[in-house]
Amino acid sequence: MPDKVIPIKHASRAPLPAPRYDGAPLADTRRRPLRDLRISVTDRCNFRCTYCMPREVFDADYKFLPHAAILSFEEIARLARVFVGLGVKKIRLTGGEPLLRKDLPRLVAMLAPLGADLTLTTNGSTLVKHAQALRDAGLDRITVSLDSLDEATFRAMNDADFPVEKVLDGIAAASDAGFAPIKINMVVKRGVNDDQIVEAARHWRDSGHILRFIEFMDVGSTNGWRMDDVIPSAEVVRRISAAFPLEQVEANYAGEVAERWRYKDGAGEIGVISSVTQAFCADCNRMRLSTEGSLYTCLFAQRGHDLKTLLRGGADDGAIRDAIAAVWRARDDRYSEIRTAETATKPKVEMSYIGG
Ligand code: SAM
Repeated sequence: MPDKVIPIKHASRAPLPAPRYDGAPLADTRRRPLRDLRISVTDRCNFRCTYCMPREVFDADYKFLPHAAILSFEEIARLARVFVGLGVKKIRLTGGEPLLRKDLPRLVAMLAPLGADLTLTTNGSTLVKHAQALRDAGLDRITVSLDSLDEATFRAMNDADFPVEKVLDGIAAASDAGFAPIKINMVVKRGVNDDQIVEAARHWRDSGHILRFIEFMDVGSTNGWRMDDVIPSAEVVRRISAAFPLEQVEANYAGEVAERWRYKDGAGEIGVISSVTQAFCADCNRMRLSTEGSLYTCLFAQRGHDLKTLLRGGADDGAIRDAIAAVWRARDDRYSEIRTAETATKPKVEMSYIGG
């Protein structure tokens, strides 16, 4: 782990004066459409996952965004409406830990009428309390992160001494509230939790939920990423298949992040997300809106585009739409396709800030 890396936070520039949006379907310089919007509703988290918000960096002295800097629900909803008008079909609320944002179901209720597929990624720690209200507010789907079912491993990875049981209770509460299937995210790090891969598969088989294995990524600049720590998805599939034979399934739609595999015995399916070993930049249709209202066109970006100044400066929806369209049309990111040991150490914006 590096000594004390200062994470980049305010690395955004104001969008250039944008030409009027002509109404034609949006495509970037690589002809990728804009379909998916991830909104970070807070840069704070109650976990200190070692691969995401290492405690050495995100410590008591760390300056999270002040309240005045973060977008209000009204501002988020207004931007989301413009995004949907530009072709966005799916909105994911994330963070940080999104359920730390006070009254989140109120935001869900404001976004639900837009008609996009509305989803949330959470560490599950407070789902018992919030699952029903989220469902009632109109949330369509939930993804819960759970890196290990082994108590000691999970507590070490979340570095907040948080027990497995409470996350499992949260998943059960979400299921009782009517979310189905629930996706369970497991980030795999060599020598840390890779011995749990088959056990996790065994646990979630036949549950109706979908376990997804995520390759450890070099997001941000603080998680001490090394290629040696990545377990390629192909190895995950091989290990599970040796215990429970798998066969590949077609993607649900173009640009789906996870590759799907199903158990040959009919016990459901798993997903693998191989951002490192099988980059999916060619199909990436995601834009990210940071907690303080900057646009990011790649998870591994070094800079964003400040939309908040426009928003708070009294711009009308048309001017905001023009700015978003211009940022998307200029987009040429393909970080995961050109990743090298050298690019991995370049300063990048933290995932907790732009939204996982
Ligand atoms: N707090 C929420 C949670 O825990 O799901 C949402 C935010 S979190 C940043 C979103 C997802 O990103 C989680 O599933 C997390 O495990 C994953 N993630 C964070 N850092 C990662 C990394 N370095 N490599 C791979 N996945 C990562």
